[in-house]
Amino acid sequence: MKNNCVFCAIAAGEIPCFKVHEDDLVLAYLDINPFTEGHTLVIPKTHTTGLLDTPPDVLGEIVKRVQKIAARLKTALPCDGFNILQNNGPAAGQTVPHLHFHIVPRLGSNTAADISFVNHAGDMDSLKTLAARLAF
Ligand code: 5GP
Ligand code: ZN
Repeated sequence: MKNNCVFCAIAAGEIPCFKVHEDDLVLAYLDINPFTEGHTLVIPKTHTTGLLDTPPDVLGEIVKRVQKIAARLKTALPCDGFNILQNNGPAAGQTVPHLHFHIVPRLGSNTAADISFVNHAGDMDSLKTLAARLAF
């Protein structure tokens, strides 16, 4: 447990939550400020900050849980689809520095526009150059 980490405190039962699922590795509970009905957070019980400091094998196991919990939400809620969101760092909007996956159930058709990522048409030459620079 990391000092002053609110999600560690929730995992330890020191702060209450509306639990959706728990096993040896993860805890899933409703986000206190839901974006949609059923907005759920999935956290590992052991503290890591985000994607990059979590051991890959552990991350794989967490993602399997995310899949299972998303499937449960999709059948148990009115839910036509869902978004998975995982923020890393304040620049990306991460406010709680304990790894977590958001599962955001969506209702209706093409409500993705409600999420405020602003897209713009890509320039093909720039995309080609960038992909070549990033490829490994
Ligand atoms: P982030 O912006 O770091 O990806 O998301 C953190 C999320 O945690 C936010 O959606 C916020 O509403 C939620 N959150 C913060 N504190 C608590 C809490 O004490 N309990 C619950 N259930 N959710 C929390
Ligand atoms: Zn923590």
